Amino acid sequence: MAEDAAKQLAELVEPLRVTPGSKVSLARDYDPAFKAGWLKKKEGEEHLQLSVDLLAQYQDRLAAQDTYGVLVVLQALDAAGKDGTIRHVMSGVNPQGVVVHSFKVPSAEELDHDFLWRYAQRLPARGQIGIFNRSHYEEVLVVRVHPHLLERQQLPPAAMHGDIWKRRYREINDWERYLVDNGFRIVKLFLNLSREEQRMRFLKRIDLAEKNWKFSSADVTERAHWDQYQKAFSEMLTHTSTEWAPWHVIPADHKWFARIAVGAVLVRTLMDIDPRYPVVDPQERQALQQAAAALEAEAPDGAAADPFAERPRRAAGEA
Ligand code: AMP
Ligand code: MG
Repeated sequence: MAEDAAKQLAELVEPLRVTPGSKVSLARDYDPAFKAGWLKKKEGEEHLQLSVDLLAQYQDRLAAQDTYGVLVVLQALDAAGKDGTIRHVMSGVNPQGVVVHSFKVPSAEELDHDFLWRYAQRLPARGQIGIFNRSHYEEVLVVRVHPHLLERQQLPPAAMHGDIWKRRYREINDWERYLVDNGFRIVKLFLNLSREEQRMRFLKRIDLAEKNWKFSSADVTERAHWDQYQKAFSEMLTHTSTEWAPWHVIPADHKWFARIAVGAVLVRTLMDIDPRYPVVDPQERQALQQAAAALEAEAPDGAAADPFAERPRRAAGEA
């Protein structure tokens, strides 16, 4: 890719990354309406297209190499645009290489296990990009804001002692480190929406018939907990942005900008992995050449023996 496009992507991503160890206060540190000054909406569309194309190319190599996997963690308040972001950013990627899972209220079976169990069941395989639409972070967000959800988890008394949230942050960090050590890169994205923009988007969902299905009256009751959520998000970012799996805060008031930013973070991650197509070893090459020779021998009269051969194929075993 063009050098300057790579530089622009890096420039876009850098200010969104939460420095590990820094103390985050969302309201003070991150503007939901931010859009990089140099980027106009019109050029933005070209940028997104570039990311979409690059993602498709990298994903193909990721799958071929079959060594690394990517887990994308998407967290946000309601109406921040998680679904639309996935749809747009992943639009060019081979569906076989991507698995998306949306986490809902846990089932009785899920509640009967440790809190990370259900997330572990849905991890991507090597060569895949897995997307968590909501994730294990709900365990320190919605569960923190609504204490009755924690009660349903049937934890033993010892697990309720002390600062349960600090302990969960540590457990999540440890789990993620284990995954990274085993070849799974984790891209954590928090779509940061303003309270006013959420109000607008809810109204739109109510007023436009084809958007009604997206609205639930529970969304408005959740909105009443806005400040508690802001605090829970701030603490989550403070304690779980790590060197091995940093958070990115994506300004989400402008959908077009959020999509570009998410695309840029993902492309940067894949550039970093730099997956390569496997190189065929000499023995396999010999087998390929024998197969080619057999296919060439079958060429009907007048047809090129091998229209793809650029130069005479080397005999098997020749250097
Ligand atoms: P949606 O993503 O809008 O379809 O809604 C999914 C719902 O599931 C949201 O209200 C979440 O708060 C809820 N949810 C997701 N994960 C959990 C969890 N671990 N515990 C309790 N509720 C959850
Ligand atoms: Mg919802």
